[in-house]
Amino acid sequence: MYQQGTIICMEAPSTGNKPKSEKTGYQHLLIAALQKEIEMARKLDPEKLASEIRKIGFSCQRCGKCCRQAFGDNRVAVIPSEIERIQEYTDLSKLEVAGPFVIESPIQDGTEKSEEKCPETSLIESEENEESFSPDLLESLEDCIDCEGKVHAFGWILRRKRNGDCTFLERDTYKCRIYPVRPMLCSTYPFYIEGLRLQTCECEGLGSPISIEDSRKLAENLLFRYISELEDMLSLYENFVDFRRGEKGLELAKKSLKKGTFTCIVHDSRGSIEVIDEVIDEVID
Ligand code: SF4
Repeated sequence: MYQQGTIICMEAPSTGNKPKSEKTGYQHLLIAALQKEIEMARKLDPEKLASEIRKIGFSCQRCGKCCRQAFGDNRVAVIPSEIERIQEYTDLSKLEVAGPFVIESPIQDGTEKSEEKCPETSLIESEENEESFSPDLLESLEDCIDCEGKVHAFGWILRRKRNGDCTFLERDTYKCRIYPVRPMLCSTYPFYIEGLRLQTCECEGLGSPISIEDSRKLAENLLFRYISELEDMLSLYENFVDFRRGEKGLELAKKSLKKGTFTCIVHDSRGSIEVIDEVIDEVID
């Protein structure tokens, strides 16, 4: 398995991989659907949402399971404004906070890997990040690989350690080191809104009583998160220009991976950024 080295980040260069076309018909459809959903989301009643939350009930058990891969999918999708907030709080670089959101290889088993290789520091230790790519993972990403062998990702997820836990989770106490600026997904867990309806993830804290005040705060945060994420996705679709795919793309990506380099183009609501993952001596802005 390919292990991550130093990461450099630079704006996507204008190379032979020129944008293919203007927006596609499908893109226009997605944009229209998102605009409609945002309009309807703004009309949702926070008081009604708070009442639904009270009926379900919730009290955080402080188990930290939602932050740990051994207990399920713990990926935390983050939008650019959330990454910036965490950066301000931690003084970490963008790529120390988050990495490209690509399809994940299957979780091998529920056992945790040795923590000895993942020493804890005051915030994070970059070498403990787990992002890793293998030829198998590249095969599963084929449709996202362009003719130059670069993998296109849509959005960001918080970095995780080699054992799969969130990089900001304190090992012994399961406390969040960035609690005041933790992502919206974390502060509203295990609730989320999808298709204008309240949904829940699996969580031991569900079913416990919640105060009126806390349910109202949670409902407000949930609505804010729902609308922010939809607006962010809308900007992504509006900015996105499709890339050229080619027969040799996968082959080139595999060759590059063999040499120890892995390149992603991350598309987000602010545009596109090229992320090169390789061992180098110098950092390029
Ligand atoms: S940011 Fe904090 S709350 Fe969110 S997954 Fe990481 S440790 Fe858990």
